[in-house]
Amino acid sequence: MELPRSVVIGHNALDEAGNVCTGLKLGRRGLIVEDPTTKQIAGETAGQVLIEAGIKAEEHVIKEASLEEVELVERALSDLSVDFVLGVGGGRPIDVAKCASFKAGISFVSVPTAASHDGLVSSQASLLGPDGKTSIAAHAPTAVIMDTGIIAGSPHRLLASGCGDIIANSTAVLDWELAHNLRNEYHSSYAASLSEMTAEMMMRNARNVKPGLEESAWFVCKALVSSGVAMSIAGSSRPASGSEHLFSHALDGIAERPALHGEQCGVGAIMMMYLHGGDWEQIRQALLDVGAPATAATMDISDEEVIRALVRAHRMKPDRYTILGDRGLTHEAAERLATATKVI
Ligand SMILES: [Zn+2]
Repeated sequence: MELPRSVVIGHNALDEAGNVCTGLKLGRRGLIVEDPTTKQIAGETAGQVLIEAGIKAEEHVIKEASLEEVELVERALSDLSVDFVLGVGGGRPIDVAKCASFKAGISFVSVPTAASHDGLVSSQASLLGPDGKTSIAAHAPTAVIMDTGIIAGSPHRLLASGCGDIIANSTAVLDWELAHNLRNEYHSSYAASLSEMTAEMMMRNARNVKPGLEESAWFVCKALVSSGVAMSIAGSSRPASGSEHLFSHALDGIAERPALHGEQCGVGAIMMMYLHGGDWEQIRQALLDVGAPATAATMDISDEEVIRALVRAHRMKPDRYTILGDRGLTHEAAERLATATKVI
C-alpha cells in the first residue's frame, strides 16, 4: 500500500508547505508545477513559503495535461537536479507533476486549489495522449496540502463536482463486488468499506455542502483523502471507479463539450444504481443538494450524447467488469434507463 505520509487540511495550510517538505526530508530543491491561474492563486505563495524554509524553489508553468508536457517537466527535473515536485492546481498540474515525478523516481507533493475529484490524492494520472485522454498508473503523493481558504474560494461547481466523484463510490463498490463474485477478481473488504462509508457520509451531509463555506471545503477534502486511501489500500482505482466512471469516460469522447469529471460520474452513478437495483433516488437527491447536476440538460449535454455514452461505456475499459457486462446496453435500453432516472 502506498499512502501519503503527511496530509494537512485547514485554513492557511499552504503556509505549512515548507515545514511539511523539510519535515519529510524531501530535499533542498523543489519544482513547482502550476498553470497560469493556479500560479496566481497558490503557486507564488508556495514558492515563497518553500524559500523561507530554506528550499530552492523553481517553477514550471504548464499549458495542458499532456504526455508531451510530462516530458518537458521531466527534462526540467533533470536540468535543475530537482529533489521533489509540488503540483499546484485543480487537476492538470497535479496530473503532470504526479506522472513526471514518478518517472523521475522522486517525491511528489499534491497541493490542490480545488476539490473537484479524487485524483488529487490517488496514484492515477489522467493525461492527454495521441489517442485522447488516458489514465496512467503513477504514484501516490508523499504529502497532500489542502488549504481550505483557497479551496472554498474556488468556483462552487468544482467542489460540487468533487462531491459527485465521491458519491459515485457507491456504485463503484457494487461493481467491484459483482466482479469479485462473477469473475473472482481480487477484492478488499477494507478498501470497499472505506469507500462506501465515504460515499454514505457525503450523501448524509449533502445539504451542509454550501458555496464559499470553508467548513464545506474541509468536509469534501477529507472525503477525497478517504477515497484516495481506499484506492491505495486496494492498489487500484476499483473502490472509486466502476460503471459510472466508464460512462463518464465514454462521454468524454462523445460529448461536444463534456462536463466535469465528477459531474459526469455523479450522473452516471444515478443510472448505474438503478441497474444495480439500489436507491438511485438517494444519489440523485444528494447531487441536487450539493448543487451538482443530475440531468443531461444541467450538464449541458444532449440526450442523444448520454444515450450513446451509455451504449459505449462497457467498451471503455474491457478488463473492468461492471454491471454493464460484456455486451453493454442496447440503444433502447439506454434510452429507457436515462428516462426512468430522469437524466433525460
Ligand atoms: Zn473519479
